[in-house]
Amino acid sequence: MSNYYPAEIVGTAVLGDSGVRQIVFRSPSIASTCSPGQFVNIACGGEHSSHILRRPISIAGADRESGCVDIRFDIKGAGTAWMAELKTGELLDVIGPLGKGYPVEPGKKCLVVGGGTGIYSVLFLAKVLGAGCKALLGFRNSSLINSISDFESYGCGLSIITDDGSSGRKGFVTELVAEELDRGGIDTVYACGPMGMLKAVNDIVGGRAEYYVSLEERMGCGVGACMACVCHTLVGYKRVCADGPVFNAVEVCFK
Ligand SMILES: Cc1cc2nc3c(=O)[nH]c(=O)nc-3n(C[C@H](O)[C@H](O)[C@H](O)COP(=O)(O)OP(=O)(O)OC[C@H]3O[C@@H](n4cnc5c(N)ncnc54)[C@H](O)[C@@H]3O)c2cc1C
Repeated sequence: MSNYYPAEIVGTAVLGDSGVRQIVFRSPSIASTCSPGQFVNIACGGEHSSHILRRPISIAGADRESGCVDIRFDIKGAGTAWMAELKTGELLDVIGPLGKGYPVEPGKKCLVVGGGTGIYSVLFLAKVLGAGCKALLGFRNSSLINSISDFESYGCGLSIITDDGSSGRKGFVTELVAEELDRGGIDTVYACGPMGMLKAVNDIVGGRAEYYVSLEERMGCGVGACMACVCHTLVGYKRVCADGPVFNAVEVCFK
């Protein structure tokens, strides 16, 4: 069940040199019902909000005790630029939790794979899986690296790779996925990131493990009504917002 709330912002931050913004808002209802892979839909633009659709942002973390929800985002356009100016104490017009999250089975050995803005979705998953998972994260360059200390604090293994080698190893996150799978013993792979990355990981997994992907399609209503985010799957048309954003990769038509 999703809820509409004007939620009070209790903290904001810019994460290191990356320019990535973090907003923590108080919503006991969302914090107590959300699960990794779900998202919130945020009205942007204040008094001009009727000109801009709500913007979907993954839940990067939630704390039931404090009722706080953590979101992290890159500034892409007008909506996220507006969100970046919000201050502690202001109200966020937010609907959530929305969508279907990652299916988690206790006791499984997992890889969580994040690229670009996809790392925020798998951050919450890493928190829930803890030592049961290893996080593999890809960034374009060192200046974009963020949220690493959070992954580390959840007790999961962690490997980072950059496209240009400006921090750590040079290459794509898919190389790390291939190496981990070749070592054996991985039951499930979860990934969120650009479609090219999801497809490449699909080719590497090749049926050796269960594989779930979170699709970050552009959305309209976020609740399954407007059909703006419909995608073609091997089992018919699906609404990314309501039937996803997480799908078993066996259903997905990788472009
Ligand atoms: C389920 C879901 C979860 C998401 N979670 C996060 C998150 O945790 N953090 C985060 O930073 N972003 C996330 N996104 C992407 C985020 O919704 C977009 O970046 C945002 O809507 C852009 O709005 P804007 O008004 O700033 O930019 P716009 O002016 O709408 O777009 C600017 C540019 O951003 C790109 N863009 C816009 N929407 C998307 C999209 N859905 N996917 C890929 N590229 C897009 C396009 O290149 C576009 O030209 C998520 C998207 C979905 C569907």
